[in-house]
Amino acid sequence: MKDRMDWVVLYLNRATKDLYRVMGEEAPPELRLLFLDAGGPDEIREKLPQADAILIADAALTAEMILRASRLKMVQHQGVGYERIDVKALAKAGVPLALCPAGTAEAVGEHTVLLMLAALKRLVAAHASMVAGQWLMWELRPSTRDLHGKTVGLIGFGRTGRAVAKRLRGFDVRLIVNDPYITLSEREKAEFGVTLVEKDALLREADIVSLHVPLTEETRHLIAGPELQRMKREAVLINVSRGGVTDQDALYEALRERRILGAGLDVYSPEPLPAGHPLTRLDNVVLTPHVAAGTLDAFRAKMRFALGNIARFKGGEEPLERAPTPSARVPGT
Ligand code: NAD
Repeated sequence: MKDRMDWVVLYLNRATKDLYRVMGEEAPPELRLLFLDAGGPDEIREKLPQADAILIADAALTAEMILRASRLKMVQHQGVGYERIDVKALAKAGVPLALCPAGTAEAVGEHTVLLMLAALKRLVAAHASMVAGQWLMWELRPSTRDLHGKTVGLIGFGRTGRAVAKRLRGFDVRLIVNDPYITLSEREKAEFGVTLVEKDALLREADIVSLHVPLTEETRHLIAGPELQRMKREAVLINVSRGGVTDQDALYEALRERRILGAGLDVYSPEPLPAGHPLTRLDNVVLTPHVAAGTLDAFRAKMRFALGNIARFKGGEEPLERAPTPSARVPGT
């Protein structure tokens, strides 16, 4: 029989049995995990009042749900992009929201480099042609490129932007960065091998433009028609941030008309991207289903941190990585 003092942690996203097992392995003994079965609205309504803490990935957490969760003491996000959580309602209820950078930056950094290389070298087209029994040894050459010698422009230079810069050090690229909210010392610039530039200069000069900003009112459609127009015809766009940071329709048109060379995308608007979406019919894109931070290694690291952080708060300590009050954030993706 479980100790009555245990906290019930409701996981508001649905995962797989294997991942639930990892969560069980990482959960401190004083936490009891509560999972969703089908995850329909009635089940969520029934389970919310049992939750002492909510652990959440990309699911929505609305004011109505927060009111319904009458025992709720803490919300722990398993990542860092929390635009679907009603932070005002949480603040009103006096419930802290904690983020989980653990595991994220490394996995997103690797995935970004993967998308850059896969888009430049048309990995998916090469693989699909082999599966189809073709040998395009010469035909793939005109549309493929190296990463070495290129200029990579990172928009947003926080955790994931820096993780990408760190991983690109061995690729002999020129790294330029746009982030109006940071300053870098000379030592940091040298450490990351980056130069800070204005956004327009980055769009003009970069062969690869990679997005690493949160979705806010300011960053929504940060890359739309005019920005795509300013990019090189040879440029590749990488988006592992949020779908809404680009104007997806304008991006589709630019790719279809070959106004840019290609794209590597992990995030969409909406998600899931509907089956048969026009983006899936282009041959100059590489698409992944919002998995940049979703490796098994990253999941375990996240669960260790996130569940440990809930236990920490239960034990009377301040949670680590509390979210700032994000007045500029917008709900939805
Ligand atoms: P972060 O907060 O560490 O860094 C974001 C950076 O963006 C900050 O340095 C900030 O100053 C900068 N920024 C904000 N507005 C800007 C603007 N208008 N122009 C240029 N720079 C601007 O966040 P992070 O950990 O690097 O993550 C970034 C985003 O990536 C998250 O908010 C999340 O939405 C997304 N993300 C996606 C995945 C995935 O699986 N695809 C995983 C993790 C994070």
